[in-house]
Amino acid sequence: MMTLALALGLLTQAGDPPGEHYLTRDEALALVFPDADRVVERTVELDGRIRTLVQKRYGDAVDGRQDVFLGLREGRPAGFAMIHSEVTKTLRVTFIVGVDPGGRVSEVAVMAHEEHIGTDCRKRRFLDQFRGKTNAHRIGVGGVGGILPYSGATLSCSAVARGIRKTLALVQHHFLDRPENLRRALGEEPVRQERYVMGALCAIAAWGDRRAVEDAFREIRRLDGILSDYDPESELSRLNREGSLEAGPDLLSFVEASAEFSRRFGGAFDITVGPLVDLWGFRDGRHRVPPDGEIRAALEKVGSSKIRISGRRVTLDEGMRLDPGAVGKGFAVDRAAAVLREAGVRRALVDFGSTVCAVGAWEAAVRDPGEPGKSLCAVALEDESLSTSGDYEKFFEADGTRYGHILDPRTGRPARGVASVSVVAPTAAESDAAATAAFVSGVLPEALPAFLVRPDGRREMNEGWRRRLKPESR
Ligand code: AMP
Ligand code: MG
Repeated sequence: MMTLALALGLLTQAGDPPGEHYLTRDEALALVFPDADRVVERTVELDGRIRTLVQKRYGDAVDGRQDVFLGLREGRPAGFAMIHSEVTKTLRVTFIVGVDPGGRVSEVAVMAHEEHIGTDCRKRRFLDQFRGKTNAHRIGVGGVGGILPYSGATLSCSAVARGIRKTLALVQHHFLDRPENLRRALGEEPVRQERYVMGALCAIAAWGDRRAVEDAFREIRRLDGILSDYDPESELSRLNREGSLEAGPDLLSFVEASAEFSRRFGGAFDITVGPLVDLWGFRDGRHRVPPDGEIRAALEKVGSSKIRISGRRVTLDEGMRLDPGAVGKGFAVDRAAAVLREAGVRRALVDFGSTVCAVGAWEAAVRDPGEPGKSLCAVALEDESLSTSGDYEKFFEADGTRYGHILDPRTGRPARGVASVSVVAPTAAESDAAATAAFVSGVLPEALPAFLVRPDGRREMNEGWRRRLKPESR
């Protein structure tokens, strides 16, 4: 067995496909884009209608994702190209098809031919017949359409014609009929996607690959699977239930970062508020004003200093419950932004509403707590995050008093005196925690740009915020 495998390996030159190789990928691209100063490769996603049109023209099923090359000259499209590998008899012919910005075949070249028979399909006399053809032409080999094959190379010639039809249909329907797709591929328009994750709508806009955006959402979902306090299977839920566990790296850094924020914000932010959130009915929606005795009892189980960490083991006191509500989204958003950056994205916005994280330079608006559909002002962000905490979404009223969902971990009661507060910070975990802390303390942090609206509508901002405020919203 071993000798046979070795012998085969030798025969096929260990991994090199058999047959003739005429052009490398770079040579082929240089040939189809003689005037381009830049060539970019894009994976495009064909919508259902366009995919059907391409399949019809191609004559067989076509993947919804296709790799396309765009030649650019001074930023404008100089042409399109696709590289195809089509089966001839049993092996494949690999070739490149270039299409000019007007949707006409500009160049076709065979890059490799695996079968020994049929290599004539690479001859110019055959390939030159396709020049100038568009998606409107009938392109068949032999019969209608009138492209003449080389005798003995019919299968290879037909394979090339198939790839040409596919390229023409894709360029016409995906790019030329839909200029927005072309702008997106050129990087002039961001990819936008929205998903419902972590119990809220999250929107990502990114100048880059759709795949990178999907990976970013996948990362948020992955962290939700670890940090959710609604999913009983999450690691955080297990910690809350069992009181002690060997934490994985994400839960461990989440707990450590959260405990650090508590110290930094003087206990106004604290992920151990769980028992208080439960007591006031903010978790199950059965809102009530609890008696003082119960508040005092719940406060016994609150305080990050009670979290014990030894190596990877995290241990809570009896009855403690970690509530990720005030910082989990920020933590996940930072990771999603890291995924985008790693994929080469230079400009993107991960937007959870209450927390937004900017990759590169952006402008973000702050909602009016009195009229959440309206924006109050806009600030400039650059590789920073903005979080807003407010009680306009989650609160209840009893005996004429309004009780909001953000609780003061020191008194055990809903924080008062602020309608909404927004904070800018280098990371989203930090802005998320800082906004919650500022809501509780009612004072603007000194070190971070922040903006606060009092329940009567009065506004306050610190110097850091003033500097970032967009002039038109000042
Ligand atoms: P946020 O909207 O980011 O300010 O988070 C508010 C959520 O965090 C609440 O709905 C609670 O689940 C939880 N929470 C409430 N008060 C606090 C607090 N003082 N520190 C940390 N988390 C809190
Ligand atoms: Mg927060």
